[in-house]
Amino acid sequence: MNNMGLEEYKGVFIYAQQVDNELSSIAFELIGKAKELAKDLGTDVTAVLLGSNVKGLTDELGEYGADKVIVVDNPELETYRTEPYAQALAAVINEYKPEIMLVGATAIGRDLGPTVSARVATGLTADCTKLEIGDFPINAVPGKEDEQKHNQLLMTRPAFGGNTIATIACPDNRPQMATVRPGVMQKLPKEAGRKAEVIEFNPTLEKNNRYVDILNVVKAVGNVENIMDAKVLVSGGRGVGSKENFKMLQDLADVFGGMVSCSRAAVENGWLAQDYQVGQTGKTVRPQIYFAIGISGAIQHVAGMEESDLIIAINKDEDAPIFSVADYGIVGDLNKIVPALTEALKAE
Ligand code: FAD
Repeated sequence: MNNMGLEEYKGVFIYAQQVDNELSSIAFELIGKAKELAKDLGTDVTAVLLGSNVKGLTDELGEYGADKVIVVDNPELETYRTEPYAQALAAVINEYKPEIMLVGATAIGRDLGPTVSARVATGLTADCTKLEIGDFPINAVPGKEDEQKHNQLLMTRPAFGGNTIATIACPDNRPQMATVRPGVMQKLPKEAGRKAEVIEFNPTLEKNNRYVDILNVVKAVGNVENIMDAKVLVSGGRGVGSKENFKMLQDLADVFGGMVSCSRAAVENGWLAQDYQVGQTGKTVRPQIYFAIGISGAIQHVAGMEESDLIIAINKDEDAPIFSVADYGIVGDLNKIVPALTEALKAE
């Protein structure tokens, strides 16, 4: 694709990930963000649903805000495999020419997104935490320093190990593609009975030597709790001092029916499993209340929790960076403050 005919590309598309014929929450989060982008561009939102026997999922996509749903329903798409899924999504892009194509930065999306962007010859910004429509300066071109390209997708993501935040645009190719971190964008409230226009599309999926046949699927038996779903998180860092001390944090979490989570230092010390890590290389969370206890507030940690509604930090160092993102800060020894706080809350 080149910059000829960019105006042919219209609409904001999202990849509606489903696993075992159940839509993943990232699908709804992407629709929420796509609605904002589409409003700024004066266009609509299309969800792309790929799978086998998935037509029943189109209603839910409409109820969460999709204006159109393009469905590719094909037995080859029963279980996720790179090749048939990439063929199907690339075929949708080539046929319907979206201006923007968003994919979740899930295990599936991190595989599918770049494969498809290479096939349709466009760029992709991975693992975005912010997306907006804006002007992009062409200041890299000598003599054109003052020129701006308008209505570009500005894609923001942490870079260089989270030490800087990069904003990236794709002014000369279409679609503008991004993978988006789960848990960062907000889904819209469900509007029961809201209908999307459903378009069935049946591209030919060709078997080629990149095809993988699935012989058996073994499901992970694991922790079904997910810190991304918790309304209250009590998060502990290196300052908690030991695995045993996390019991104190669990007691506080129990008062709210919440969960315990942690910084990477706590994972590295073996105090909690990686499933509970918040941050750039952990999960992005936005609970109603986030307690940061014995956590210094490194940029890589803050990237995963700064969107929480209310942040309460407890740290013995009054200069700890966590206090700059906290709504309430308590300076002191967590070993004294946490049990006292738990008792006081229980007494209420
Ligand atoms: P520390 O920075 O050591 O802070 C401990 C804090 O506890 C201090 O502020 C101290 O004052 C306080 N404290 C100590 N004792 C007490 C006490 N008795 N009472 C009260 N306060 C006390 N980190 C993440 O968390 N998540 C990530 O996803 C992540 N990804 C990363 C990715 C990359 C590429 C890199 C380079 C780093 C990443 N990190 C991540 C690591 C990050 O840079 C920090 O090292 C880490 O967050 C520090 O964890 P911490 O705040 O628990 O520990």
